[in-house]
Amino acid sequence: MSASNPTPSGGPLVEGPRDPEHDVTASYALEPDYVARLTARILATSGESKEARSPLNGAPLAHIPQSTEADVDEAFARARRAQEKWAATPVAEREAFLLRLHDLVLDRQQEILDLIVLESGKARKHAFDEPLHIALTARYYGRRSREILGTERRAGVIPALTRVDLNHVPKGVVGIISPWNYPFTMALCDGLAALAAGNAVVAKPDAQTMLSALLGAQLLEEAGLPKDLWQVVAGPGSKIGTNIIERADYICFTGSTQTGKIIGKQCAERLIGCSLELGGKNPMLVLADADVERAAEGATRAVFSNAGQLCVSVERLFVADAIYDRFVERFVARTQAMTLGATLGWDNDMGPLISQDQVDTATAHVEDAVAKGARVLAGGKARPDLAPYFFEPTILEGVTPEMTVFGNETFGPVVAIYRFHSEDEAVERANDGEYGLNASIYSRDAERARRLASRVKCGTVNVNEAFAASFASIDAPMGGMRQSGMGRRQGSEGILRYTETQSVATQRVLRFSPMLGLSEEAYAKVMTASLRVLKKLGRA
Ligand code: NAD
Repeated sequence: MSASNPTPSGGPLVEGPRDPEHDVTASYALEPDYVARLTARILATSGESKEARSPLNGAPLAHIPQSTEADVDEAFARARRAQEKWAATPVAEREAFLLRLHDLVLDRQQEILDLIVLESGKARKHAFDEPLHIALTARYYGRRSREILGTERRAGVIPALTRVDLNHVPKGVVGIISPWNYPFTMALCDGLAALAAGNAVVAKPDAQTMLSALLGAQLLEEAGLPKDLWQVVAGPGSKIGTNIIERADYICFTGSTQTGKIIGKQCAERLIGCSLELGGKNPMLVLADADVERAAEGATRAVFSNAGQLCVSVERLFVADAIYDRFVERFVARTQAMTLGATLGWDNDMGPLISQDQVDTATAHVEDAVAKGARVLAGGKARPDLAPYFFEPTILEGVTPEMTVFGNETFGPVVAIYRFHSEDEAVERANDGEYGLNASIYSRDAERARRLASRVKCGTVNVNEAFAASFASIDAPMGGMRQSGMGRRQGSEGILRYTETQSVATQRVLRFSPMLGLSEEAYAKVMTASLRVLKKLGRA
């Protein structure tokens, strides 16, 4: 591993003091002015701050000002004022803003990547997914919002005489509560659709990754988003998150199933809508006719991208008996060949986890499995010699239902591999458990894989790809079935969730009461006869 200190962006980085404890890890620091400009975007008057450290080396990165309930109040007041004007702005102008953001994010890519890697520890190649996802999302809603949000005509009750127009009216101010694992895209992507629909946003990113989210807010402004439409507050989820839910017109939450259930109840109490993008225990099925090398490559990315801290990453791998041994040999070889590192450069295949909590969960899951008889085919232990929170890419075999790792999300670089004998059995085992976020199927017969996909209870299924094909196809809705969530991001679903559907019915000539001297009884007869005629004419 390199101990040099390349600063790929030439941007906001300065070389920090070397960390004596983790000498293999280069030490980075951020220019104080750069940090101050970012953190000034948080509406925070408590006078308190929370230190953020880099998982690359444990070195301090920034002090994050903390918000109070009064700050959340102020954030909503500002957002509401700004939203009234924004809702009256032509959708074409909102689209133009998103297309400018697209270009800006691509232009400022290296700076974005530096910040993501510094804050989250992930390998640069996995950080790259984030600006890419934002650019794709900005382009999609930058090109499709007018069409999706445009007023629609629906059938009126009396053909030609009742006209119905359907408007998609913005909800108002949307609260966005986001996690740390994809700190740039998770903080921004859902909000782009909310803005395109004419809403304002109050965002509470995860405390561990505020800087990436703040850079996102800065780029929105640089792309021309009017002042005050995007507010950022900071603080503990249970406090500041709850303050947001108490004031918002809609909540978009991404995080754990446990927190999602609390948020769902709080939203129900206020009768506001929410979308909940939650956890998973995602399966990959490798069918007997799969291209083994391609499947092994895909499995390596599906399991170890962002060190497994990815909602759609694979934690259960089901492989057909006929190719099991060959597949395991190739998957283990690829896993053992991975470059592990905690630097800003492009060379690493996997970086450290984000926190000691994450390492503790991975360690507990592996130790429990091994104690109950599972075998470790690769990895299996923490590597504090590489960085404070490193855990090796780990493959387990012989996992059984008594083991914690069998059905519980590790959210780390740990996968259990199982043999199956028939495709019915594979589908049944893939559907076992409570989650239903993402699945992957490898087969040379894509048609057959797609037929099998329709039987898998997951919101997205990728054929001959790990997860990127569905996630990066922004026209495709993305979200979970069962305990993996409610609602969908992306596609028309991803923007319409931020609107109220309003039906405007205009009545011409005839009114809905007796006319021309008809009695109520005669009117009822005419209406009854009309209904029979309309059915005969095939009207809905
Ligand atoms: P988490 O639920 O602990 O935290 C997520 C966010 O919610 C953070 O901003 C946190 O501060 C906030 N929060 C915590 N408690 C809250 C409360 N009571 N009220 C309001 N807000 C609260 O999740 P995490 O452990 O940080 O993130 C990892 C989890 O997120 C994993 O389970 C992962 O699968 C899931 N995830 C899902 C998706 C998806 O799209 N389905 C994407 C990324 C992560």
